[in-house]
Amino acid sequence: MKYISTRSSSVKYNFEKIFLKGLADDGGLFTPTTIPVYSEKDLNKFKDLSYSELAIELIFPFVGDTISKNDLSNIIKNSYKKFDDKNVVKISNLGNFKLLELFHGPTLAFKDIAMQFIGNLYEHYLNQNKKKINIVVATSGDTGSAAIDAIKGRKNMNVFVLHPDNKISSVQKKLMTTASEKNVYNLAIQGNFDDCQNIVKSLFADKKFSNSINMSGVNSINWARIIAQSVYYFYSYFKVLPFFKNVNFSVPTGNFGDVFSGYFAKKMGLPINKLIVATNSNDILHRAITRGDYASNPAIETLSPSMDIQIASNFERLIYDLNQGNSLETKKIMDKFKKEKKYIIPKDHLSKINLNFLSESLNEKELISSIRYTYENFKIVLDPHTAIGYGVLNKLNIDSNTIILATAHPSKFPEAIEKSLNIKTKLPAKLNYIMDQKEKYDKLENNTEAVKKFILKKLS
Ligand SMILES: *Cc1c(COP(=O)(O)O)cnc(C)c1O
Repeated sequence: MKYISTRSSSVKYNFEKIFLKGLADDGGLFTPTTIPVYSEKDLNKFKDLSYSELAIELIFPFVGDTISKNDLSNIIKNSYKKFDDKNVVKISNLGNFKLLELFHGPTLAFKDIAMQFIGNLYEHYLNQNKKKINIVVATSGDTGSAAIDAIKGRKNMNVFVLHPDNKISSVQKKLMTTASEKNVYNLAIQGNFDDCQNIVKSLFADKKFSNSINMSGVNSINWARIIAQSVYYFYSYFKVLPFFKNVNFSVPTGNFGDVFSGYFAKKMGLPINKLIVATNSNDILHRAITRGDYASNPAIETLSPSMDIQIASNFERLIYDLNQGNSLETKKIMDKFKKEKKYIIPKDHLSKINLNFLSESLNEKELISSIRYTYENFKIVLDPHTAIGYGVLNKLNIDSNTIILATAHPSKFPEAIEKSLNIKTKLPAKLNYIMDQKEKYDKLENNTEAVKKFILKKLS
């Protein structure tokens, strides 16, 4: 399997290269040049596999000749050891719907599923080529905690995590800042998430700096995350058959990573009906999918902070797909979007989008109602992101055949739950200890040079 950038097809890379780099030098996203497509007969063979066995089968074609199947199998099995459930995910009922619980990993959010795999992949490649890398990542809370858990204590790698000071939940903060391992650095930036993201982007763009420290990225644009996440679409699809036909997936969305994994599963042959893009008030994707209006406004803070995003980085993958892999055209569109902060999707592309995607968004009041409704009617406490995945179904008049991705455990967002239900959430027992542990982080001004200086000092 070879990969190219969505913005230029002239150079082909192998999986190891695109995994370690994360983002292409031309600013594009790495994408495979071919897609394995499974027939109904092939899918039938996957039906009864365990989660890890299924992950091995689905991911193996993408790592190509860079990892043996035996090594991949060990990497995947190791990645899911720390999960509470041996099947990695759980499927439960929520009224007429199914809830796909993706939060049984070490940091209580779906990002653990790809990130634990990524941690082991790094170790595999770095052991082979004796390199050292520095991972720099911006987070609104969940990516950072998942990355820290996956990287902490490993040899040959450091992780620098930038979070917006005072803008993440208390539990997210504890999960990140109580890691005492020497290779973990937390930076509380005096700004918002977009500021953190911009700093990381400028560090990557500074080739002299990023090459000098062997900088690597684990944000959701990394292809390894997309492919690792597509596994649970297959797994849950098999588990709800034969009760559900024409399954929809409702996906709480920010960066368009998780829901793109679902779209990719559909492209691999999984017979998904609609992918439902569920957003909060930061509704750029909802506007894009309903009206073709992909225009970025300033991000606002909501009770679902992991979706407070106004530039959905992985949307570029869909633009590339709509342009049938025309990287020149994709580059043109992305350059224009960068300049004008706005892209109007042509009508014919919009109708193609609507064959596969629906969307809705919830404002803060509707979000709180959704949390209250599911608590009062089903005695289930949803985290604020998952509550959006549920609440949009009502607005779209969908009342069956839908799997809602439960992207985080409610106890990760105690402030939002207390505000909505006036109850205190309980952390799973395995994590109780973190609340009494000392936090370790550095406050830094919202400034790229300051972050650069910090990193260089720590590495010297
Ligand atoms: C990251 C995150 C999302 C959004 O996922 P994307 O891949 O960015 O669309 C939704 N819910 C939770 C809890 C998250 O941590």
